[in-house]
Amino acid sequence: MYCYEHEDIETTKTCEECGVGLCNECESKTIFKTNKKALCRRCNLFWANDNARIFKTKYETNKLAIIIYTVSFLTGILVCAIIELFFLSGMNSVIGLFIIWGIGSLICEYITKIKISDNTGENIVNKIINMIFNFFIRALFIPVFLIFLILDNKRLKKEITENNEILKKLNA
Ligand SMILES: [Zn+2]
Ligand SMILES: [Zn+2]
Repeated sequence: MYCYEHEDIETTKTCEECGVGLCNECESKTIFKTNKKALCRRCNLFWANDNARIFKTKYETNKLAIIIYTVSFLTGILVCAIIELFFLSGMNSVIGLFIIWGIGSLICEYITKIKISDNTGENIVNKIINMIFNFFIRALFIPVFLIFLILDNKRLKKEITENNEILKKLNA
């Protein structure tokens, strides 16, 4: 068998994905591996493009979630402040804050699920448990989720840049 890129080099090694011949040089250039074995340039490109698509979707979904969480975070605080200032109601303002944060979380969950089109055929009980979980837990921890999403997007941005470098190298 000959290397698929260097047709004069004989080899016994192959691309783990598609089976074309790989010489030592081509083998050493691989970026992605399957079963810890090298891939040809075309299969490397496939994985780099696949990663680019996954990272981009995740990044944009996070971005959308960050916007929704920020809006509900600020609206919640605003409503809380208004209740405190005009109604002097003590505990009610905190309840108002959490209700708005909870609603924001549900909206966020709903919109981001549509975006990923994650229809994994959940049953109705799971859906309700999820909804309650999202409402109460996220209502309590909305600032934590916000920070988590911002950090996650920072990491994703770095991954996207690195993956773009890989794509550039593979296309060269
Ligand atoms: Zn291949
Ligand atoms: Zn080669």
